[in-house]
Amino acid sequence: MVYQANPARYESMEYRRCGRSGLKLPAISLGLWHNFGDTTLLENSRQLLHRAFDSGITHLDLANNYGPPPGSAEENFGRILREDFLPYRDELIISSKAGYTMWEGPYGDWGSRKYLISSLDQSLKRMGLEYVDIFYHHRPDPETPLEETMRALDTVVRQGKALYVGISNYPAELAAQAIDILNNLGTPCLIHQPRYSMFERWVEGGLLNILQEKGVGSIAFSPLAGGQLTDRYLDGIPADSRAASGSKFLNADQLTEEKLEKVRKLNAIAQRRGQKLSQMALAWVLRGDKVTSVLIGASKTSQIDDAIGMLANRHFTAAELAEIEAILV
Ligand code: NDP
Repeated sequence: MVYQANPARYESMEYRRCGRSGLKLPAISLGLWHNFGDTTLLENSRQLLHRAFDSGITHLDLANNYGPPPGSAEENFGRILREDFLPYRDELIISSKAGYTMWEGPYGDWGSRKYLISSLDQSLKRMGLEYVDIFYHHRPDPETPLEETMRALDTVVRQGKALYVGISNYPAELAAQAIDILNNLGTPCLIHQPRYSMFERWVEGGLLNILQEKGVGSIAFSPLAGGQLTDRYLDGIPADSRAASGSKFLNADQLTEEKLEKVRKLNAIAQRRGQKLSQMALAWVLRGDKVTSVLIGASKTSQIDDAIGMLANRHFTAAELAEIEAILV
């Protein structure tokens, strides 16, 4: 059956200006790092994309290496895009990245001009797109001159292969330098994509302030710490969870008793607020106005519904924030 998007899709989502750009992003964006590779049923990936777009999630985040195997998330997304979303292309913000190992030899990794431009060409082919909306350098490269990497980003915009560019995983000082270089080249940095959650707070104080001062947006990845900041692991490790999947990014060893104790206490606060812990964790990342969008992952459509439900209760009292703070320290 031909996919028809929900006519009410723009009614509940909040769209937030990304830095000082003309672009607005949904408060919640969907990442395709997990659950879109060849090890996932295509129909499940399709349902996730339908549910996201039907809920007003217009921003989909990919990277060259998402899968497994690397590249397969872009390929599978490209297929679903072709089959279901072509009429909606102009309603979507599609991002990709290069910066981690993608192909063999010295040109398939890090941050050279050679790697970035070839990789984006490959991503466009896999997704069947003429351009991506946002192209990121995925992580800093300690060896390539920053100027070269930023020039490559500027080039892809001038070539029409990306509308905007961003950086990811850059520490505060390096991010400031990259942003200045891009400004001088005439291609402003749209956005920074750092990891940020109740359990990972390195961006506070430094990076987020710099981004705000410089008019650059931010999108927080893994805002649920891969699922740890949800009720998923309160009663053990479910067989269908990320922690049980053999992931090197989340495994049973990380779910220490100390951490679970914090999760239980946070869960109690969320319950008092009349929401799920996952919803409180997302609202917490969006508190204040320094984060443009939270970039979630989902293995089930119900998890997207949970995230959307957060929008109804985003406010924290000073007492709640202090109570959360006392748990997190
Ligand atoms: P999250 O922290 O949002 O974790 C998502 C996982 O949490 C889901 O896959 C699911 O795991 C679980 N979950 C989500 N909602 C719920 C819920 N309501 N109840 C219970 N469990 C829930 O983000 P990710 O770590 O997946 O990262 C999100 C995106 O960020 C990626 O897809 C990618 O686009 C981007 N990213 C970017 C990086 C970078 O270097 N720039 C690095 C990492 C991610 P389960 O499978 O157990 O159901």
